[in-house]
Amino acid sequence: MLIKTFPLTSFQQNTRIVVCEETKKAICIDPATKSDALAKFINDNGLELQAITLTHGHLDHVGGTLDLQRSFPQVEIILHKDDEDLYYGLQQQPLRMGIPSFALKQLGFDYENPPKLTRNWQDGEVYEVGTLKFKVLHCPGHTRGHVVLAEEVERKVFVGDCLFEGGIGRTDLPGGDYEQLIDSINRNILTLGDDFIVYSGHGRETTVGHEKATNPYLTGVYQIGRGRFL
Ligand SMILES: [Zn+2]
Ligand SMILES: [Zn+2]
Repeated sequence: MLIKTFPLTSFQQNTRIVVCEETKKAICIDPATKSDALAKFINDNGLELQAITLTHGHLDHVGGTLDLQRSFPQVEIILHKDDEDLYYGLQQQPLRMGIPSFALKQLGFDYENPPKLTRNWQDGEVYEVGTLKFKVLHCPGHTRGHVVLAEEVERKVFVGDCLFEGGIGRTDLPGGDYEQLIDSINRNILTLGDDFIVYSGHGRETTVGHEKATNPYLTGVYQIGRGRFL
């Protein structure tokens, strides 16, 4: 597996191209925004972009879908059905975040409507990219339809905004639920194995074992719903 990361937008969202090196088939996980660098990397390396695979529907993860699909019209676009309202409501997301409409263009949030999804993720499905096999795990809590993609042989998991080095995703946005997120992480990510490398939507890579041992949201240092101290 070859992974190329492009931190994009003011959110520094880790847009990734993930490649099966044997077959040159590739996916783009969470294209944040219009970026010529993505198509250039795909074309320069002779890759076949098979799909735009979306972990969830937030604007910093789906904002570049239309542009990439225009460059690669045959590409699949896949998202869990429970985040379709966020995805198709992309143009409204910045307004709901309190950004005034006159500032949208200046901040790069003047989105066109995103292209139609080609299908939805199913919890537990195995998604193949050449010889790579990604297990798709529904992990609600940051959004209702968040999924993570785990590759068992390569021991790598792409977790979007569920889990970060030393942190977890926000749960104060629409569809967010703190206890549900902790439950999703415990059930679907921490059970993968301590050696799994964790690729988050923002920030650096980490491992399941490191987060299990040190992440204050997971060790019990921060009690659920009670803030930092007793
Ligand atoms: Zn998010
Ligand atoms: Zn994000």
